[in-house]
Amino acid sequence: MRTNCSASRAPRRPRHREVLVARTSTKRTTALVGEAPHGVQNKAGVRTTRLPSGDVIPVLGQGTWHLAEDPGRREEEVEALRLGLDLGMTLIDTAEMYADGAAEDLVGEAIAGRRDEVFLVSKVLPHNTTRRGTIAACEGSLRRLKADHLDLYLLHWRGEIALEETLAGFAALVHAGKIRQWGVSNFDTSDMKELVRLPGGSAVQTDQVLYNLVRRGIEFDLLPWCREHRIPIMAYSPVEQGRVLDRAELQDIAIRHSATPAQVALAWLLRQEGVVAIPKAGTPEHVRENRAALDVVLGEKDLAELDRALPPPRRKVPLQML
Ligand code: NAP
Repeated sequence: MRTNCSASRAPRRPRHREVLVARTSTKRTTALVGEAPHGVQNKAGVRTTRLPSGDVIPVLGQGTWHLAEDPGRREEEVEALRLGLDLGMTLIDTAEMYADGAAEDLVGEAIAGRRDEVFLVSKVLPHNTTRRGTIAACEGSLRRLKADHLDLYLLHWRGEIALEETLAGFAALVHAGKIRQWGVSNFDTSDMKELVRLPGGSAVQTDQVLYNLVRRGIEFDLLPWCREHRIPIMAYSPVEQGRVLDRAELQDIAIRHSATPAQVALAWLLRQEGVVAIPKAGTPEHVRENRAALDVVLGEKDLAELDRALPPPRRKVPLQML
């Protein structure tokens, strides 16, 4: 059947595993889920994890929701994203939904001339996810991003259209070299189980979900399920869009570590295997602060205090989304 995609297979793209710098050994080890082999960091010193495909991605990336909504802030936002790349936060997460495509356009400006440094992620809106719609939506994203391929393309959340249709669109896009791999977002455990049973469904690379100190529901079943299946999760809204930052517990721990509450919230996520955090920062100051969260190491006392104040789930909590 004809598609909007070129029928010919595109040349192999450089794989992101090539940017690894092994501090302690040059030998590669067998990948476990979300395993961050000791000392393996990208060129700028950001710890990495592996997708099921073997691609290596930084555990700290950059979100883009609400970027490009204020023309007066554009220059600073572009600068912030570029600084994030300089600092090794080379995974950029965007979506056709954000600012109605304008966020992708801004990302395109930020990564101009630096595409090879970036692990570029975008998302398709559920109502576009027929086979043909998925292909057309991806082509729109690529136009706005001024890129010829995405590293990872996600179904933004599950809608009415059958998953088989979307998987057929993803497969055509992979075949045409327009996306290297695909994943999902806002899928609960039952959705993931259903997905991996579908033909081709086990090629899913990640589930991007709401996860932070005040949204711990996934710890009951989704996070263990993803670990068991060696699928890293991508934690969105890692500082709960700023709402978690004035909690007293965080502030106390931040003082003990000469850190900020945002750094404590990020460090809490980043200490875990198989978890990638994608904070959105619209200013260079916030980008620097977030990058430095990788240097904050929480101890047993900190974690116990956080567990007391913000306990992990004791039973199934349906996946929440923003
Ligand atoms: P977030 O990253 O938790 O919070 C962003 C907010 O926190 C912004 O207001 C930002 O302010 C502020 N902030 C960032 N760093 C800070 C710091 N160090 N100190 C104080 N404030 C700081 O929320 P989010 O944007 O919702 O989530 C992150 C990304 O995840 C999104 O941008 C998007 O890419 C993705 N996401 C995906 C979904 C999905 O359904 N798949 C849903 C939501 C989000 P400034 O802008 O002023 O720096």
